[in-house]
Amino acid sequence: MKRAGTAFTRIGPGLREIANGACLYCGRVVAQHAGAQIDHFIPCSSHHDDAIENLVYAHGRCNNDKRACLAADPHVERWIRRLREPATGTALAELAALKQWEMAADKTAAIARSTYLSLFAGYKLWQTGKQFTAADPDRLRAAWSSVRSAAPFAGCSRVRGACPPGGEWKHRKSRSAPVRPPAR
Ligand SMILES: [Zn+2]
Repeated sequence: MKRAGTAFTRIGPGLREIANGACLYCGRVVAQHAGAQIDHFIPCSSHHDDAIENLVYAHGRCNNDKRACLAADPHVERWIRRLREPATGTALAELAALKQWEMAADKTAAIARSTYLSLFAGYKLWQTGKQFTAADPDRLRAAWSSVRSAAPFAGCSRVRGACPPGGEWKHRKSRSAPVRPPAR
């Protein structure tokens, strides 16, 4: 979640236009007075990435429900479509150029891909409201198969969010060691 209002002031209207006014998560149009926010799709607590590709238009409510958690498979599929859709990519690039905002499509995709492909089966991903759903590695692999692997993933920090047990993004100890569920 972007705390400062600066990002919204600068690129919020443009992101709204690109999203046709719809929240990435619930798909419903955000009424102008309904407290739209810009969400970091890959949460800052996982990897701080302010690139325009990682910023999505969302209801304040959806954004607050998601908190510092990773979004569930259907959200990932939508976000990947947004990333790959040529018209959207062009629109994001134009918005970034106009507002002198950071752009890093390849890097952002690589970070998100590494993050999701390192999750263990059953990892809790945010679905909607207070609902979480187990990660489906096969579905995630299929979704990411269309996105080429770019730069190796480097750098992350421990999550400070308040996700339910198993919902926190886990720190990867090394690139080769998959993330394991905590011992119970
Ligand atoms: Zn929403």
